[in-house]
Amino acid sequence: MSNIDLINKLHQEGALDFDEFKRLLKTFDQNDFDYAKKIAAKITEQIFKNKIYIRGLIEISSYCKNDCYYCGLRRSNKLALRYRLNLEEILLCCKEGYRLGFRTFVLQGGEDEYYQDERMVEIIEKIKELYPDCAITLSLGEKSKETYQKYFNAGADRYLLRHETYNREHYYQLHPHEMSFDNRIDCLLNLKAIGFQTGCGFMVGSYHQDIDCLVNDLLFIKELKPEMVGIGPYLVHQNTPFKNQPNGDLKLTLFLLSLIRIMTKDVLLPATTALATLDSNGRLEGINHGCNVVMPNLSPQEVRKKYSLYDGKAASGQEASEGLKELIDTLKTAGYEVVYERGDYCKFDYEG
Ligand code: SF4
Repeated sequence: MSNIDLINKLHQEGALDFDEFKRLLKTFDQNDFDYAKKIAAKITEQIFKNKIYIRGLIEISSYCKNDCYYCGLRRSNKLALRYRLNLEEILLCCKEGYRLGFRTFVLQGGEDEYYQDERMVEIIEKIKELYPDCAITLSLGEKSKETYQKYFNAGADRYLLRHETYNREHYYQLHPHEMSFDNRIDCLLNLKAIGFQTGCGFMVGSYHQDIDCLVNDLLFIKELKPEMVGIGPYLVHQNTPFKNQPNGDLKLTLFLLSLIRIMTKDVLLPATTALATLDSNGRLEGINHGCNVVMPNLSPQEVRKKYSLYDGKAASGQEASEGLKELIDTLKTAGYEVVYERGDYCKFDYEG
């Protein structure tokens, strides 16, 4: 079976087995890359028309109790600039976002114990009270099932938690042993069980990642059936143990985005900031390969540089709410329409 046959099989059946995925990822050439892009674009067009959903990203805290080896916010990075936003500051971001038209707020942060359950519930309830027509997405890391349930009961709609890798050995090459691969996966299962629109995802090109890891990631996505998938290239941060590792590869990331669209069909798939940081055209390329979500930054300008997950993180221009018009124009020129609706996940029975 040729690689084109494998892509067609993935399109028709929504699945490949381990060896088929492995062969495709190992041997794809420009022709396969272009073909996957074409099929992914066709599926996206059929399901979402030319709509790109827009979410306002609010980075609420750069404190983190964890020590992931790849991340600039890790607790051992003594040079990291730390901040956290209180309720009033978060509400100001929402106010500005709402004025600009955003109807989803994504609250993202390190695992910061300042945000105890009560405080987080108050934040969620207040946003929902002031902006009942808006969706709230949380991306605050691993919590107990009880805590997730409290967030959900308070009105949170969606939760993003990248699984990072579905290979146990690789997980412990990226994270200290005080963290737990099993717990991370359990968190995702709990989020799904509670009823969150759930997002998993991983970095492409993280240290020690090989093709088998990527195949396992794709198979895990197939099994979990998330409503959202966030993948982007690994980008190095100078104050981490991985400071001498190369950045992830743009082409492989784009190919994987296409394969995820072809496999999952109706998933919400953001063109990430990491893509836009790696390549000035990265976000648009992501969209051309099947992405349908963008998340401009609504955080207060004075803290944006402090949320330094990796070096050179894009936080201005079209990555920021101030550059919204420019972003809309760029996408419009490329044939897409930015839409402000909540853009909840809707199951779509795709028939090819
Ligand atoms: S990846 Fe997330 S959990 Fe790990 S150190 Fe960074 S912010 Fe903390």
